[in-house]
Amino acid sequence: MTTPMLGINGQLYIGGEWQEAASGERRKVIAPATAKRIADIAWATTADADRAVAQAKEASRNGSWADRPGRERSRILLKVSQLIRERAEELAQAESADVGKPIFFTRMIDVPTAAEQFEYFAALAQTLDGSVRNTPLEAFAFTRREPVGVVAALTPFNFPLILSSSKLAPALAAGNTIVHKPAEDTPLSAILLAQIFEDAGLPKGVYNLITGAGAELGEYLVQHPDVSLVALTGSTAVGKKVSAMAGELLKPVVTELGGNAAHIVFADADVNVAVGAIINAFVFNTGQFCMAGPRLLVERPLLDTLVGILSGAVGNVPIGRPSDPNTVIGPLVSEKQLRRVEAFVEKARAQGGRVVAGGERHDLDGGYYYKPTIIVGLPNEAEAVQEEVFGPVLTVQPFDTEEEAIALANSTRYGLAAGIQTTNIARAHRVAAKLDAGIVWVNGWSLLDPAVPFGGVKSSGAGRESGPEALLGYTRTKSVVIATPAPRA
Ligand code: NAD
Repeated sequence: MTTPMLGINGQLYIGGEWQEAASGERRKVIAPATAKRIADIAWATTADADRAVAQAKEASRNGSWADRPGRERSRILLKVSQLIRERAEELAQAESADVGKPIFFTRMIDVPTAAEQFEYFAALAQTLDGSVRNTPLEAFAFTRREPVGVVAALTPFNFPLILSSSKLAPALAAGNTIVHKPAEDTPLSAILLAQIFEDAGLPKGVYNLITGAGAELGEYLVQHPDVSLVALTGSTAVGKKVSAMAGELLKPVVTELGGNAAHIVFADADVNVAVGAIINAFVFNTGQFCMAGPRLLVERPLLDTLVGILSGAVGNVPIGRPSDPNTVIGPLVSEKQLRRVEAFVEKARAQGGRVVAGGERHDLDGGYYYKPTIIVGLPNEAEAVQEEVFGPVLTVQPFDTEEEAIALANSTRYGLAAGIQTTNIARAHRVAAKLDAGIVWVNGWSLLDPAVPFGGVKSSGAGRESGPEALLGYTRTKSVVIATPAPRA
C-alpha cells in the first residue's frame, strides 16, 4: 500500500524484496507539527528480524559484497550519493514532515550531509589496506582489514537520514551487510534510502530494513548470534542496556550516545560571534541534538550583558510550521518529548531557576511546539543542568577562572561535545585540551564534516563516526604470517 502523501510504501525491505510484516500489522506515523497521521508502516516482529538477519548473513557469506573490489563498492556508494541528490526534495520533505524539522534545514543540511557521507566513504572504500610488518621471524607477516560480517544498525529519531548515512556508508564501504532498525517515531527517510540502495544496484540482502518496536527488535538483534557488531546511536540509557547485553556475548558495540555540552564564553570573546553560536547550539533542531550546547558558562564580567542580549534575541528566532521556509524552530518530535521538556523546566523553577525567556508551549496547529527558553540561577546539581533535556532550553552559570570553567564543563557524566568562545588563541588550546569531550569547537558550533571524527567519552559512548576511524570501526584486523625458512642444506 502506498501512502499517497509522501510516496512511501511503508514496507519492510528484506533480501531485496519489499514486503509486509509477517504479522500483517501496520502502525501510524504521526507528524509532530499537527499530531496527525502522515503515513503508516509495517510493524515488524522478531520473525521479520530473523529473516532480515538470515538474508544479511547469506549476502555476507556468499561474498557478493565483501569480496567485491573496494573500487566496485565505491561505485555503488557514489551512485547512492548521486540518487540522494536527485531525490533531494522528496527526502527533505519526508524528513521535515516526519521529524518536524524546518524544511530550510532538511534542504540545506540533512540531505546534503547524507549525500556527502556516501561520497566520502565511497572514496575510502578504495583505501582499505593492510600493512607489511617488520619482524625478526623467518616469515612474511602482513595484516588484512576485513569486514566484521552482519552489522545491526540502530538509529535515533532526531537526525534519521544523517545518522543512518553515517553508519551505513562506512559499514557498507568496509564490505559489511546490514540490518537497519530506525527509530519508531521517524522511520520514513530510511524507507526512501532503501529504495535508493535498490536503485543504485546494491546486491540483494546487503541492506535490510525493518521498522517496528525499538526495544523488542533492538534487543533481539543485539542478541542474535549471527549479528557480529551492533552500531547504536541513541540515549545513554539504551546504550547501557545494549552494551551490557552485547558484553555478555563479547560482541563489539559502537555507541554514539547522549550529550550535554558546555559552551564556555570568556570575557574576551567576540560577543557577536558568541551570540550566534550560543543560539545555534541550543535551538537548532529544537534542541534535539546530541551535540547541542545547553549549558552556557559565562565569565562573570560578561554575564549580565550576555544574558540580556540572548533573552532579547531568542524571541526573534522564527518558530513555526516546518514547511515554512522561514522557520528556524519547529516542533519537538512527540508529545512525550514535549512533556519531558516541560517537566525539566518546571523542576528547574522549583529548584530556584529564573526563566528569563520562553518557559512555555507555543500554540500552533495542535503541534508539539515549545518556546526557546533561558534559565539562570540554577545550582550545578539541578537536573536541567546535569541531564540531557533534549529541547530548546539553555541554562546559564557564571565562572571566575579558567580552572573553574573547565571543572564546571567537565562536571556532568556526558562528554560528547564542548565549545569555547575566546579571542585568546593560547587559552583556546589550553582549555580544549582539558575538556572531557570527543569534539571541541572554538568560536563556532556544529562544525562537522564526514572527514572529522565524531563521538563521545564517558557516558556519551565509545566509538567514532566519520573519518577513517569510522571505516576502521567496521573492520577487524587479520594477521597472516607465511613462513619463509631458508632451504635446508
Ligand atoms: P533511543 O535510545 O530511545 O533509541 C535509539 C535507537 O535504539 C532506536 O532505534 C530505538 O528504537 C532503539 N532502542 C530503543 N530501546 C532499545 C533497546 N532496549 N534495545 C535496543 N535498541 C533499542 O534514542 P532516541 O530517543 O531515538 O534518540 C535521542 C538520543 O540519542 C539522545 O540521547 C541523543 O543524545 C542521542 N543521540 C546521540 C548522537 C551521537 O552521535 N552521540 C546522535 C544523535 C542522538
